[in-house]
Amino acid sequence: MPEDEPFPWEIGIYDAHCHPTDTLASIADIPQMKATTLTIMATRGEDQDLVQQTAVSLSAKESQSTSDRVVPCFGWHPWFSHQILDDTAQPTAAQSPAEHKYAHYAAVLTPSPADDQSFIDLLPVPKPLSELISETRNRLQQFPNALVGEVGLDRSFRLPSPWSSTDIENRDDQLTPGAREGRRLSIYRVKPEHQRTVLKAQLQLAGEMNRAVSLHSVQAHGGVFEVLKELWAGHERVVLSRRKRDKQRDAEGAVFDDDEDDDQDKTPDRSQPTKAADLSGKSYRPFPPRVCMHSYTGSVEPIRQFLHQSNPSDVYFSFSKLINFSGTAGKKVDDVIKALPEGRILIESDLHVAGVQMDEVLEDVARQICQLRGWELRHGVQVLADNWQRFVFG
Ligand SMILES: [Zn+2]
Repeated sequence: MPEDEPFPWEIGIYDAHCHPTDTLASIADIPQMKATTLTIMATRGEDQDLVQQTAVSLSAKESQSTSDRVVPCFGWHPWFSHQILDDTAQPTAAQSPAEHKYAHYAAVLTPSPADDQSFIDLLPVPKPLSELISETRNRLQQFPNALVGEVGLDRSFRLPSPWSSTDIENRDDQLTPGAREGRRLSIYRVKPEHQRTVLKAQLQLAGEMNRAVSLHSVQAHGGVFEVLKELWAGHERVVLSRRKRDKQRDAEGAVFDDDEDDDQDKTPDRSQPTKAADLSGKSYRPFPPRVCMHSYTGSVEPIRQFLHQSNPSDVYFSFSKLINFSGTAGKKVDDVIKALPEGRILIESDLHVAGVQMDEVLEDVARQICQLRGWELRHGVQVLADNWQRFVFG
C-alpha cells in the first residue's frame, strides 16, 4: 500500500479513547479537526465536569445525536482509586469521610502509610463509592450516548509524591489539575482488591445503564478478566456445539462465513442471547454490554479468553500510536492485531491534547493497522468506523 495514498477522512475517523480536557485550551480546536468524533474520558474528580461541559459545548443540538463531535465518558481511573472510600459493604453512618481518612488510606495503600502521617495529610478527603456511583449515574442519565470510562486495573503504577512548593511554582497552569505532571513517584500502590472494588461498582453501573466501557489494564489482564467473569456468572451465552450449529445453519439455510476457529467467530451474536437480554424493557444486567480494552498491551493468549463465545459482553481492543506503536512497544502488537477478529479492532489517540497532533496520530495508527491486516486503506478505515459505531451505540 503506497504511504502517499490520500487518507480517506471523509469515511469518518473515530478516536475511541482520549483526554483532551487535560489541556482545556485545546478543546477549541476540536471543531477544526479532521477526525469525526472523539470519545472523551473522565478519570478523576477534576475532570468529570470538564468532560460534561465539553460535550454540551460541542453538541450540535439541544439533545445528543450520533453526529456529535464528542462522546463523553464518565468514570474513575485506577490511578485515583485510593481517593474512593468503599462505603458499600457497611454504611459509614457514625463517621464522616474526613474522620475515615487516615484509616482509609492506611488500609487501601501498600505498603501501608500508617506511619507516614505527612503523606496522608496531603491526600484529599476520600469520596464515598456510593456517591461516585450516584453522581456518575446522573451524568449518564443526562447524556444518553455517554459511556463509562476510564476505569480499570493497574498493577504497575505508584502514587506520585505530594506536591512540593517548587512543584507548585513550576507547574503548567494550562493543564487540568490532578494528574502526575512529572512528580516523583512514592513507594505507595493501591491494593489490587481495592482497585477491583472501584472497578466492579462502575462496571455494574454500566450494566444497569446499558453503556459500553473503556477499560484501562496494565499488567492486569487476568484481574480484569476475573472481575468480568464474576459479573457474567449466571448470564453466560449458550454456546452451541459445532454439530448443533451446523444443524441450525442447515435449518436456517443461512450462509455463515466462520472458519475453523470457534473462539474467534467475528459474529458472536449468532449465539444465544443472555438471560438478561431476553427480558423486555428495562432489563437489569450486572455487566456492560460492550467493553474496550484500551491501548491493549497484552499478548494473543488473553484475547481468546476475552472473546470466548460464552461471554455475554462483547470485547473490543483499541490501539494507539503512543502506547502500541512507539519505538519501545516491540512486535507483540503485530501478532495481536493479526489475531483479532476484524469486527473488534478500534483506534485511539490516548492523547491529552486535541487538534492537529491528534489527527496525525489517528491517521498513523489507522494506516499501521491497515498495513498489518493487509487491508486496502479505504476498506480498513470503513471497518474501523463501523466497529466504533457498533462499540458506542450497540
Ligand atoms: Zn486513558
